[in-house]
Amino acid sequence: MMNEKNIEQLQSILSSPKKISIIPHRNPDGDAIGSTLGLYHVLKSLGHEAYVISPNDFPHFLAWMPASEDIIIFDKKRDYATQLLSSSDYIFTLDFNILLRTGDDMEKVLEKMKAPFVMIDHHQMPGNYAELTFSNPEFGSTCELLYTILDKANLTDKISKEAATCLYTGIVTDSGSFRFPKTNANTHRVVANLIDKGIENPEIHNALFDNSNYNRLQLLGRALQNMVILPEYNTSYIFLTDKELNEFQHQKGDTEGFVNYGLSIKGVDLTFFFIERKDEGIVKISLRSQGNMDVNLLARKYFEGGGHVNAAGGKSTLSLNDTITRFVDIIKKHKQEFYV
Ligand code: 5GP
Ligand code: MN
Repeated sequence: MMNEKNIEQLQSILSSPKKISIIPHRNPDGDAIGSTLGLYHVLKSLGHEAYVISPNDFPHFLAWMPASEDIIIFDKKRDYATQLLSSSDYIFTLDFNILLRTGDDMEKVLEKMKAPFVMIDHHQMPGNYAELTFSNPEFGSTCELLYTILDKANLTDKISKEAATCLYTGIVTDSGSFRFPKTNANTHRVVANLIDKGIENPEIHNALFDNSNYNRLQLLGRALQNMVILPEYNTSYIFLTDKELNEFQHQKGDTEGFVNYGLSIKGVDLTFFFIERKDEGIVKISLRSQGNMDVNLLARKYFEGGGHVNAAGGKSTLSLNDTITRFVDIIKKHKQEFYV
């Protein structure tokens, strides 16, 4: 979905000054914030009036990103955000594939909007709400996809150092620092071009990964102590209770990356991370796999979610204990069905 017609349509949209709102998914990650802010910088340098409206707050480990202070939080400024959306000429949605990923409330607002949508995303099974859809699950990140689209549209000269910093951040976070399977030659070519824009790549890694406080590492320690392995099923899981999250004064973003430890065990090709979110009345579930175990399908079928083949998310409204019991049962009975 990156043919000449789509690129020409994008060029035509961007050829005259417009008011454009840009939206990441709820609970935005590095790729969601990186791509929306990256596009924000590019649109501004093209002379558009641009706004990034995030459904809810973004994690603290992204708060250093250039122009992150400009992000409008829908949950906190609902009226203002709705007014901006209503008066936008276009609404760009980045790093998600269905409007529900912005949350129940924001989805309802977005569905009423007259402005056409443009989707730029790398998740499987895109919805059809957009007038113009750039969707390609072969890309490891929306940031890499966005760069490639800008390149085809002859707009890379509009990528400033600030924009490049944002795009690099999304590529690093969604690729697990260049190690997940979708990291390919294009990824590294894009990164080379971003480095040519003058980004300070070691500082970006430092800002992302070497900014933990003591409590976060203690929380990681607890999560690792809570790990359970189901050796017969090549599966592991970790969990954190609401009480444990409070004990270590958990802040949004503190648990980022914890789920990957479950996969680092020899022989494990499927891992789950259960987080009890008492305030939302749900258990948030992160799924990760190696090889051809498809956690997107698993999350869709059993955990009200989705994502990619090797990384997906979902939720459960059962208690933490009941969620885990149900999960163990599903894995024992059905894991084999999800090898693709
Ligand atoms: P994470 O486990 O880091 O929250 O999410 C992993 C991947 O799954 C990301 O690509 C994310 O966008 C996607 N994902 C997370 N939660 C959900 C969900 O509830 N629904 C869907 N469709 N995708 C999700
Ligand atoms: Mn992404």
